[in-house]
Amino acid sequence: MNAITQSITNSPSKHYHNIILGAGISGLTTAFYLQKSNKDQNFIILEKNDRVGGRVFTDTFNNNLVEHGPNALILRKKEFRDILCDLQLENELIYPPAQSKKRYICKNGKLISVSPSSLLLKSDLTDLKAKIKLLLGGYTSTPQEKIPANQNIFDFFATRFSNKFAENLIIPLVSGIYAGDARKVIMKNAFPKIYEFALNSNSLLLGAIKTLLRKKQKQQQNKQNNHKESFQANNLASFKDGLNILSNTIYKNFEKQVILNSTVTSISKDNFKKMWIIKTANESYTCKNLINTLPAISFAELLLSDDLWFNELKSYLKNINYSSVIIVHLTYNKSDIKNKNRGFGFLNTHENNLLKRPLRILGTLFSSYMFPSRTSTNQELFTVFLGGDLYPQIKQLSDKEIIDLAHTELTKILQINASIANEHSILRWDLAIPQYDQNHLQFKDWINRDENTKEYIKNNLYWSTNYWGGISVPDCMINAKNIAQNILEESI
Ligand SMILES: Cc1cc2nc3c(=O)[nH]c(=O)nc-3n(C[C@H](O)[C@H](O)[C@H](O)COP(=O)(O)OP(=O)(O)OC[C@H]3O[C@@H](n4cnc5c(N)ncnc54)[C@H](O)[C@@H]3O)c2cc1C
Repeated sequence: MNAITQSITNSPSKHYHNIILGAGISGLTTAFYLQKSNKDQNFIILEKNDRVGGRVFTDTFNNNLVEHGPNALILRKKEFRDILCDLQLENELIYPPAQSKKRYICKNGKLISVSPSSLLLKSDLTDLKAKIKLLLGGYTSTPQEKIPANQNIFDFFATRFSNKFAENLIIPLVSGIYAGDARKVIMKNAFPKIYEFALNSNSLLLGAIKTLLRKKQKQQQNKQNNHKESFQANNLASFKDGLNILSNTIYKNFEKQVILNSTVTSISKDNFKKMWIIKTANESYTCKNLINTLPAISFAELLLSDDLWFNELKSYLKNINYSSVIIVHLTYNKSDIKNKNRGFGFLNTHENNLLKRPLRILGTLFSSYMFPSRTSTNQELFTVFLGGDLYPQIKQLSDKEIIDLAHTELTKILQINASIANEHSILRWDLAIPQYDQNHLQFKDWINRDENTKEYIKNNLYWSTNYWGGISVPDCMINAKNIAQNILEESI
């Protein structure tokens, strides 16, 4: 079937079998697998921006290649590596140098390298209690069945190591991944794998070993199905021209089916005709299957309905919190930078959170150290993250104030001798990252109840979003592929 020619004629609205809301990486990947199947290519994507990719946003200024959104992909999951093969992108990947595995915590303005041995032996990021617990593999006497399903990440690690460990390492980690607050984000949904280790044993290490052994057994059984891979699977990766390659490669397969500059203004359901009605400023569309990739709050606000179930759904979606993040890129002459500690980047501790120093950077990536061609050879490019749930008040500052703040902190930490950066850029994300907190947990518990699952299936409503099965680009793409497969199974 050809998608465009399938529009129903004699209808005031254009009709498609599938409408995907949003051309971020989730929407594009769902569309890719619908198209690849040859079974249901009757879809369009409605996208408000004049470009595809959503949060995936590579940009250039002067001689710099910068990522305003995700910076790198974690290749750990086999399902994701399979998707890269389907896109024929596996040989386009570039990898950072081995030394960039080094990560730092910035405490009191000093960079401290983080590794299991340094934490155990000499680091002042950990206390004696944490060091002993590290030797015991993160032990807790709490029986597995008593681990609260809604335990936050801070408490999860504080009980297995120590408060100091959680303050110095876990708070920065959660602000680095979720731009969130470790005291609010829920372990079970944010780090399901580690949570599973804890369910397997009182010691995290033993739990991990048990899980890995089981996984290995499974892998042995499936060995004959595995093709040889060219990936450095335990590494981070990007593409020479940035992560936009990912979205642009997918987009090229069905450009005409993506309607850019097309902001959805309302979503409703005609229950009699069993069709969704989607409106933009200039057009009205109908479809059988609606694939939502919009932020939760946006979808809830656009959905017009008197139906009780939809209204309950809306109230859960409206409660899903998002952190806002500001990304600043700065370049400096290499010769002006005294501190030569390099690696992936550093995350800030927040021990004086909101009291003595209310405005701080969350962390910084050593972008041109990881991917050297990102700036000219005589200078270094840094990507600084600000805001998040720990310092939300930063977004009230002007662009200039934020750039000054990033510059002042970075020059102090890396001992950079420069009164201003050579170049800078700034980008603000308002609904940057959904928070897997208490409200998200309540949403997931509610939507996973049988009666609610039946309801959204009955309504042909599909979730290809980053508040469903993980926030990372790989997780979004894996989830999106599964959604496409569900749609295809339903339509057979
Ligand atoms: C600053 C930052 C850094 C990150 N770093 C990493 C990283 O290093 N590695 C990693 O794996 N992940 C990272 N992530 C997470 C990851 O980028 C996102 O979770 C993922 O890209 C989300 O993709 P999506 O398609 O689900 O949503 P989005 O990218 O948000 O796509 C939704 C699309 O819907 C469109 N839209 C919204 N409203 C409307 C409307 N009314 N009508 C039509 N279209 C609309 C938007 O324009 C957008 O294109 C980062 C995220 C951010 C914000």
